[in-house]
Amino acid sequence: MTEEQFMRAAIREAEKARAIGEVPIGCVIERDGKIVARGYNRRMTDHCALAHAELSAIRKACRKAGDWRLEDCTLYVTLEPCPMCAGAIVQARIPKVVFGCRNPKAGSAGSVLDLLHVEGLNHQVSVEEGILGEECAEMMRVFFRELRKRKREAQD
Ligand SMILES: [Zn+2]
Repeated sequence: MTEEQFMRAAIREAEKARAIGEVPIGCVIERDGKIVARGYNRRMTDHCALAHAELSAIRKACRKAGDWRLEDCTLYVTLEPCPMCAGAIVQARIPKVVFGCRNPKAGSAGSVLDLLHVEGLNHQVSVEEGILGEECAEMMRVFFRELRKRKREAQD
């Protein structure tokens, strides 16, 4: 599978979030060329600020591996990780993250913070961005445009 195909799989996860009214963010974790875990944003559904796509996928990948370390995995996510998820990526020793589009409000892989390259920490993460980036960005734009429209209609 190519990087684009893995990101395509992450987009499919994001679509699951959108289908239940959640902000469309999806994630897959790859090991040895195969997807070993998937996750999507369920923050509202689960009533939990921790229910991010990446944390869900990391939890599943760890369970499957029987190890807290995911040293031979790559994490693909449609949106640049937030501080919490970037922290979890470092904690899980994931060596590489590929994200679709930037998150100017909370992105912690270079936009607001760069938690994946903190010299003082004992783990650095290589980062690649922009794989299907325009598609990931458009998915977010459409979601928020529709959300604003629904809010306006509710006020009328
Ligand atoms: Zn997050």
